[in-house]
Amino acid sequence: MANTSPSSLHALLFPFMAKGHTIPILQLARLLLRRNATVTIFTTPANHPYISTSLSDTSTSIISLPFPKNIPGVPPGVESMDKLPSLSLFFPFVSSTKLIQPEFEKAVQSLKTPVTFMITDGFFGWTLESANKFNIPRLVYYGMSNFAITISRVVSLNKHIFEGKSDKNLVTVPEFPWLTVTRDEFNDVFNGRDLDSPYAKWIVDNVLATSKSYGLVTNSFSELEPVFVEYWNSKLGPKSWSMGPFCLSHTEFLSSKKPSWIVWLDKKLQLGSPVLYVAFGSQSEISQDQIDEIKIGLEKSEVSFLWVMRRSENGVYPTLDDGFEERVKEKGIVVREWVNQREILEHEIVKGFVSHCGWNSVLESICAGVPILAWPLSAEQPLNAKFVVDEIKIGVRVETCDGTVNGFVKGEGLEKKVKELMEGEKGKEVRKKVAEISRTAAKAVEEGGSSWQCLNELIDELQINQ
Ligand code: UDP
Repeated sequence: MANTSPSSLHALLFPFMAKGHTIPILQLARLLLRRNATVTIFTTPANHPYISTSLSDTSTSIISLPFPKNIPGVPPGVESMDKLPSLSLFFPFVSSTKLIQPEFEKAVQSLKTPVTFMITDGFFGWTLESANKFNIPRLVYYGMSNFAITISRVVSLNKHIFEGKSDKNLVTVPEFPWLTVTRDEFNDVFNGRDLDSPYAKWIVDNVLATSKSYGLVTNSFSELEPVFVEYWNSKLGPKSWSMGPFCLSHTEFLSSKKPSWIVWLDKKLQLGSPVLYVAFGSQSEISQDQIDEIKIGLEKSEVSFLWVMRRSENGVYPTLDDGFEERVKEKGIVVREWVNQREILEHEIVKGFVSHCGWNSVLESICAGVPILAWPLSAEQPLNAKFVVDEIKIGVRVETCDGTVNGFVKGEGLEKKVKELMEGEKGKEVRKKVAEISRTAAKAVEEGGSSWQCLNELIDELQINQ
């Protein structure tokens, strides 16, 4: 059993400055605090308020490091440069985080309690050097499933399997013979890039830093993907510690006043009208043409829906003209604010989720027992969608016009799939399956569960080596 006396365990956490990376780390902080750890989170000034509000009921220390100004490649005048401003500025942004290293090291050195271990984002490979300097084990946070990290690695090692294949041709993954992938499902980070380019070099540096780190911390639980956890740990490594779902570290929603969309969901509950939740994460940008088709699909499906929109890169919301909202007002609402997604998914009347399959969204849907209409857009989302639909069978897939995994979706195609998920036989099947997995997830994080034990083992191991 882990020795969890307050003075002996000090965890330093440093999440990447995008919500999809920060939120799970804040949830992990709660799990560590529950083990009586001292927790220090590093961030930047623009992210500090969100973190301190999210953890206001805890004793976490938060340290803001000044973020460099005038980053090459980022247009002047971009506000809050120390929050990821947009996906298109990802590389200049992420590569400039290395400039914080001297400040980071100064701050680590001045901490009063010795640090037992640090968990830093996979994008911050440079933190390994700092960790080594101070003799602190570094664990890498990868906001991905073991399935996605394992398949990505295995497919990279078997790159020739795509030779002569188009995006749509299926190929078998030799190590997992029941599994097929297409070229467009695999996020080839080097695709078309000059291998000497700064981007390629940055990727290689991060992968190397990961391979030399103490381990990975994955937001997952071993029962969800046992084959892939086992394969990664025995053949690839460094060891992946699956200690989630982290979102279950916190099940109370703090808002003192119910947001209007929750009041709306309460009304739907009274009426007994199942609601479809539609949202594409914190960063995805959807073209105006695609938004127009989503409108058609949702309206024609006649299903009740709650659609959360994000601003596009230029800071404006996509337009929904021609009286859409007025026409559908009995059925659906559109929310143009940051919502507490978990609060929505956990609402009893939410029975389906049109999701881009960001890994946090997938886990949150699993925990809430809500089946998914998988609509991956980029990064490792197509692999997550494959996992959701083909491996654990808790969802169905959208139908794209050209058959590629993240192609354009027409309104009629969306309508058909929405009905299938919300009203069809397939929907019943996947709903049953997600309810089962949801129960297993809850058990995993309870005392004695697989994730609970995994965290204990990690703490024990680190304290022995301290
Ligand atoms: N999220 C939220 N409210 C929003 C949009 C997103 O709470 O209005 C949360 C969501 O619950 C999840 C995270 O932001 O925890 C998004 O992470 P995910 O991996 O699903 O997608 P990403 O944004 O990284 O693409």
